[in-house]
Amino acid sequence: MTTTIDYDKLYLGGDWTAPRGGETLPVHSATTEERIGSVPLGTESDIDAAVEAARAAFDDPEGWPRWSAERRAEALGRFADELEKRGPETAQRVAMQNGMPIAVAENFEAMFPALLLRYYSGLMVEQQEERRPGMLGGTAVVSREPIGVVGAIVPWNVPQGITFLKLAPALASGCTVVLKPAPETVLDAFLVGEAAVAAGLPAGVLNIVPAGREVGAHLVEHPGVDKVSFTGSTAAGRAIAETCGRLLRPVTLELGGKSAAIVLDDADLQSNIESFFASTLLNNGQICWLGTRVLAPRSRYQEVVDTISGLAGSLTIGDPLDRSVQVGPLVSSRQRERVEGYIAKGNSDGGRLTVGGGRPDRDRGWFVQPTVFADVDPNHTIAQEEIFGPVLAVIGYDDEAEAVRIANDTDYGLGGSVWTADVERGEAFARNVRSGTIGVNHYVNEPTAPFGGIKASGMGRELGPEGLVAFQQLKTIYLPPAAAAN
Ligand code: NAD
Repeated sequence: MTTTIDYDKLYLGGDWTAPRGGETLPVHSATTEERIGSVPLGTESDIDAAVEAARAAFDDPEGWPRWSAERRAEALGRFADELEKRGPETAQRVAMQNGMPIAVAENFEAMFPALLLRYYSGLMVEQQEERRPGMLGGTAVVSREPIGVVGAIVPWNVPQGITFLKLAPALASGCTVVLKPAPETVLDAFLVGEAAVAAGLPAGVLNIVPAGREVGAHLVEHPGVDKVSFTGSTAAGRAIAETCGRLLRPVTLELGGKSAAIVLDDADLQSNIESFFASTLLNNGQICWLGTRVLAPRSRYQEVVDTISGLAGSLTIGDPLDRSVQVGPLVSSRQRERVEGYIAKGNSDGGRLTVGGGRPDRDRGWFVQPTVFADVDPNHTIAQEEIFGPVLAVIGYDDEAEAVRIANDTDYGLGGSVWTADVERGEAFARNVRSGTIGVNHYVNEPTAPFGGIKASGMGRELGPEGLVAFQQLKTIYLPPAAAAN
């Protein structure tokens, strides 16, 4: 009999507490389809209790927001240490739940949270309030205050990395947080609760309520919440933005993408093949910024199609816990159906399937073969809509001007990459692509630089100092001219 990971309490108000509802949320392995654990399913009453705890912690006159940045940094350093101790277990749980290959999970999920906590704690310690000599006499003291109680809502695809894009700057700046993880990936979130208890985070500073979208919507509109930070689909982002617009509640949205990987006519793709894989097919295609529209020059079209098809066809598919595996299963059977629907559409729209297109020969797990379509028209559905699976669409172009036009012919604007033998040429090309981020011959989420999208890919930025400012409000105190001081 396999042991399962089961929790019967929620981390809320600084300790493990009994849930208000009686329902349980089962968790399944994407590889074996078996039930591997369960947690209490959070309810609106749990959200109410969590917001109340976060509110009390924020409003306490001697509480978390009033601590010095150094004191918070010390507490968050302990939190980072406790998360690191649980890093291997975190990576394993994520890999089992959403199919992320273990080496990727060790980076994005085990390492990133502690790194971000230390980075943002350090930025806060350095942040100074300004004293500006005024034009009208007097002095303006300009400070940055924590924005308040944060509702953080995250998806299942990179659950820990994305969680800490929000938690690290929010907590460092003095905010308190209610975190709602996605139902598919909750077992890793409970390790965060365990680490918070072990680190002795003060009561109410962090509260975790696993639940679905209706309960998430309740968090978004809760009167005790001051800021919403959301990562997920564009459809949910629009609904959340509408609510926040009505409430005049600040909101950051990291949404979907359909980024372009533009191969210029001098590119040596073969010698950059690992970076190309990481920029287009990583995490089984379940990352928002992947370059899933590959733009290839007609002068070298067939060669590019062959290289990419060769890559996709050579990848090792299997159990993500096996270190040799490059492509694991998708997160759920629903997600696999969605991806297979797009593959069918790619075929019926007239794309030329060059590799993949089906399921690998395995009796269990929500696997889809890495798939490449050539001869895709920029208007085809698979060139316009986010698939969120290992499916690439190769589109031909005649010259750079046409490549720029096609790259920008999308509702989205999140990531992208340019492939070339000449980095300066790549940088110049990258300036013409309308997206929040873009890489030359690779793509990474560099922690010190802002990440985020334009158009239907979202509003606001995470990472970098800009990611900290998203959890702060500016405040000005007007001091009188010296003569009027008394
Ligand atoms: P989703 O929008 O269905 O769910 C994301 C989270 O939001 C979940 O926790 C869900 O329970 C919650 N939710 C859904 N609707 C809600 C609502 N109306 N109010 C409050 N909460 C709500 O997305 P998903 O299918 O879980 O994730 C995949 C999507 O996330 C993809 O579109 C992907 O591009 C996007 N994504 C974007 C980024 C980014 O940084 N831009 C990163 C990862 C994933």
